[in-house]
Amino acid sequence: MRIFSGIQPTGRKHLGNYIGAIRQYVAGQDRGDPAIYCIVDLHATTVSYDPAELRERIYDTTAILMAAGLDPGRCVLFRQGDVQEHAELCWLLSSVTAIGELNRMHQFRDKSLAQRELVSAGLLFYPVLQAADVLVYRAHEVPVGEDQREHLELMRDVARRFNARFGEGILVVPEHRIPEVGARIMDLQEPSRKMSTTGGTLEGTVLVLDDPPTIEKKLKRAVTDSGSEIARGPDKPGVTNLIDILAVARDVTPREVETDMRSARGYGDLKAATAAAVVEMLTPVRERYAELRPDEAALETVLAEGAEKARAMARETMLGVREAMGVGPPR
Ligand code: ATP
Ligand code: MG
Repeated sequence: MRIFSGIQPTGRKHLGNYIGAIRQYVAGQDRGDPAIYCIVDLHATTVSYDPAELRERIYDTTAILMAAGLDPGRCVLFRQGDVQEHAELCWLLSSVTAIGELNRMHQFRDKSLAQRELVSAGLLFYPVLQAADVLVYRAHEVPVGEDQREHLELMRDVARRFNARFGEGILVVPEHRIPEVGARIMDLQEPSRKMSTTGGTLEGTVLVLDDPPTIEKKLKRAVTDSGSEIARGPDKPGVTNLIDILAVARDVTPREVETDMRSARGYGDLKAATAAAVVEMLTPVRERYAELRPDEAALETVLAEGAEKARAMARETMLGVREAMGVGPPR
């Protein structure tokens, strides 16, 4: 079974990314044959960005992933822009993608509203490139957070439509893998919004690389709800979020957290417990990052070797796609 997932190269990867995605990547390494993880620099160009900074952020993200436990010997870790087949398949898939569907995507709606200057066509096309990322490896499973459910559904439709039009079995229709707890970690200051790399509030976003005092400060100031009962509920988004975070960090169920917190004196205790658990979870990652990040040549080697392996798989798929679509010379 092939596993594929992508993550955007921003140095500000946060607790939501860690819990919703990165932890699953690490767990998938030995299940996937192979597990393929991609740092999606092409996706990062869909909003305004600085080219020199993008390069830095790619190394930041590579080092974070390795610090969290990705082992290039057990997975394929590479940079999207190194494998040109992604862009080619994106174009070819656009022939079976309806523009109305792209227009309806929540991420496009939210992100285009947030743009001050240009709303790029790239932002609209983001899910098509994302579909190409996965489909070019004929991957079966895609570990993602809840916010990507919609894009995964679109991807499945595109794959089905492609196969119906050009030949059954050419592309694999993938399944998403969304964690049961922690699939949507909310901003600590605005618990109605997901924690986000580009959106969210500064105070409400716990970064993977934040030091312990910063983590404690952000969690202590987390917005909670009225009442004092430590229990999950649709009317208690702030408290629910903290319970979910604590459950994941302690590797127990949210129900166990609720039981354990029964004798707590109030939300202050919940926040303190969550901060302690998050610090314990992220400290080894931060320490390992500090060792890995300075050696950019070593990181570049990891990415280059990963790209080599990725390219071989992608080329194979593209031979079939081109042949089926009548593009390029006949085989
Ligand atoms: P942006 O908000 O700019 O899109 P992001 O924070 O969503 O950035 P991505 O690199 O787009 O970061 O997402 C990487 C992975 O993290 C995806 O699988 C996504 O579903 C997951 N993810 C993102 N935010 C959260 C969150 N708040 N809770 C759980 N998972 C999340
Ligand atoms: Mg995102």
